[in-house]
Amino acid sequence: MKHNFGAGPGILPHEVLKQAAAGVLDLNGIGLSILEISHRSAEFEAILDEAVKLVKELLEVPEGYSVLFLQGGASTQFALAPYNLLPEGGKAAYLETGVWANKAMKEAKFFGEVQVVASSKESNFTYIPKDFVIPADAAYFHITSNNTIYGTQSQSFPKSPVPVVCDMSSDIFSRKINVADFGLIYAGAQKNMGPAGTTLVIVKDDILGKSGRKIPAMFNYQVQIEGGSMYNTPPCFAIYVSMLTLNWLKSKGGVAAIEAENIAKAKVLYGEIDRNPLFKGVCAVEDRSHMNVCFVMENPEHEKPFLKLAEEKGIVGIKGHRSVGGFRASIYNALPITSVYVLIDAMQEFAEKNK
Ligand code: PMP
Repeated sequence: MKHNFGAGPGILPHEVLKQAAAGVLDLNGIGLSILEISHRSAEFEAILDEAVKLVKELLEVPEGYSVLFLQGGASTQFALAPYNLLPEGGKAAYLETGVWANKAMKEAKFFGEVQVVASSKESNFTYIPKDFVIPADAAYFHITSNNTIYGTQSQSFPKSPVPVVCDMSSDIFSRKINVADFGLIYAGAQKNMGPAGTTLVIVKDDILGKSGRKIPAMFNYQVQIEGGSMYNTPPCFAIYVSMLTLNWLKSKGGVAAIEAENIAKAKVLYGEIDRNPLFKGVCAVEDRSHMNVCFVMENPEHEKPFLKLAEEKGIVGIKGHRSVGGFRASIYNALPITSVYVLIDAMQEFAEKNK
């Protein structure tokens, strides 16, 4: 077995993979595969209901919010958020914390004015800007809770005079959040929730229907809510595996329990980066992500041989994003702390050999 530190699609629990494999051959003993049953069958409706129920339970979603499983990835939500929420001639506020925030802004510009309230672009996004004012005349304020490429994460969320729209693609279900602080949350499934192919959307019902826009059905949150995520054929398999993954999370004690594990994993790994003279972190310490741990080596010539040593130990997926370089160890929910210790051992062994 490999130690999978990939940034996404990321590691899934092994027992979930086994259940998913069984469901492909014969779903719950019905003699049919999950891949070949109607999305309107009682079996699939039960899966979707269960997935929605688990999201609500695990994140303690309050009344007045709808939970959707859509398609098109988080990148489609970059456009759907403004399409649904931004009136013609209106303005939306964005916090620029990386490439994904940039892409969200780019899509919003198709629909109206984008005001950047703060940016860390000048430092290649190594920190989360903190001193900013959210304009009260914006339709919403958009943030990216965890910046997958740079390894920064918002440790708290601002109080906002307007609905907060949050891209939580790379840290949803990894820590406790207060859903009531947000108007819209979206996340591609392929980090902590399941496989690629479905996107979770949690939307506060009363922020919808105010943009005055005519919105095509598939892009219209209200239509998707009324259709129960089944306006058209949903991504059945991705929803099935997400449901299994959320069930796994519940059986582990839910979000609070996994958050404690994630903090422990991040603590030992950052501890080694700070202690080991060959390695150094790249982000502001107070903004360090508990999901994507980015680091470089003091001597860049060490990076290739270290990667080789790591690969020999079954460690995969730690090469940093091409725009940052160095290394990125993604320590998503399903990655056991034992894998983190294997990485730490490799770092210590390399330092020992290269004193
Ligand atoms: N936002 C964030 C924070 C991401 O990490 C990613 C993908 N890595 C995306 C958006 C884009 O997601 P998708 O590929 O599902 O469109």
